[in-house]
Amino acid sequence: FAPWADPSAKPYIVFENITKRFGDFTAVNNLSLSIFEREFFALLGASGCGKSTLLRMLAGFEEPTSGRILLDGQDLRGIPPYKRPVNMMFQSYALFPHMTVEQNVAFGLKQDGMPKQEIDARVADMLKLVKLTQFAKRKPHQLSGGQRQRVALARSVAKRPKVLLLDEPLGALDKKLREETQFELMDLQQSLGLTFVVVTHDQEEAMTMADRIAILDKGEVMQVATPAEIYEAPVSQFVANFVGNVNMFEGKVKARNGEAATIVGGSGAEINVVNAGEAAAGKDVVFAIRPEKIKVSSKKPAGTNAMQGEIWDIAYLGDMTIFHVKLSDGQIVKAATMNSSRIAEDPLSWSDQAWISFEPNAGVVLSR
Ligand code: ATP
Repeated sequence: FAPWADPSAKPYIVFENITKRFGDFTAVNNLSLSIFEREFFALLGASGCGKSTLLRMLAGFEEPTSGRILLDGQDLRGIPPYKRPVNMMFQSYALFPHMTVEQNVAFGLKQDGMPKQEIDARVADMLKLVKLTQFAKRKPHQLSGGQRQRVALARSVAKRPKVLLLDEPLGALDKKLREETQFELMDLQQSLGLTFVVVTHDQEEAMTMADRIAILDKGEVMQVATPAEIYEAPVSQFVANFVGNVNMFEGKVKARNGEAATIVGGSGAEINVVNAGEAAAGKDVVFAIRPEKIKVSSKKPAGTNAMQGEIWDIAYLGDMTIFHVKLSDGQIVKAATMNSSRIAEDPLSWSDQAWISFEPNAGVVLSR
């Protein structure tokens, strides 16, 4: 499933040069974005970056100051929320406390005047889907947080919207339940064949669930890509820092040879890379590399991109060990090694002299 990779594929939801101002504050700034049918799309960013505002404009609770939002080719301007084939699930779930689970799920269908028999069948279907059939007669206060979340989900998909908007859908759940529910949400999206647009500030949540992620900052899109692309090929220091851990080596491009380049750092250490992107010779850059791409060893490894330092910290995490290695110029480099692949004959302790090394294709060159 990768419609975004097909240049002839037509996007389903298009944000076209959207700006949203509140007074003289610009919450969304000339933003363009396309989402495909059946995509699980995440809007990821820090608090205040404008992600909820985007969702609210798609739902119809806010109108853009300028720009257009298209859904399946139709301009949504002026169309009230209840006439859009879009439903929104809020973080608070907004369940009616005096109604039972089944009454909550039936509510919107009743309002639409659906015949009772049909409502009963639909509600039974929905409760089965979210595994709450046995709780049909309970009230929300008799349910756990996770169960309440599933009632809210069942209610928001009962009307069969084409697009479900989820604003921090797992925010109220504890960590373990959250992880389980992420997979349930993915299954539900798959089985219903809906387009999901989820707002979250939790990078792990976005990485786990989404087909693609848009990273937002100050009302602008920083990068739109699959979780793997965002992690492996961030386009800027902002994105590299926002998602996962990263080491940054500052330097200057010393020489280019086609795509390849040599970067020289302040301490004179050289880094050879196979792909320096746009960075021309003489340019100030950073080389960004993820901790698990860095090897640590007690002996000088063969090949390029090896730097000597001292073991500064060791954290054993069960599945992996994190080494902090202090280089001669004072920079502390973070290296993560899976314990299943640790070399037993190379035990490393605090204060040991050690070498870090990495492959020429293990990181990305970003502008400063
Ligand atoms: P959070 O994760 O905290 O909800 P967010 O990225 O979803 O953040 P938005 O709710 O979209 O952020 O808000 C973006 C900016 O617009 C914020 O600075 C917010 O204060 C401002 N804003 C949102 N709604 C209004 C409003 N009705 N009037 C004035 N300012 C608003």
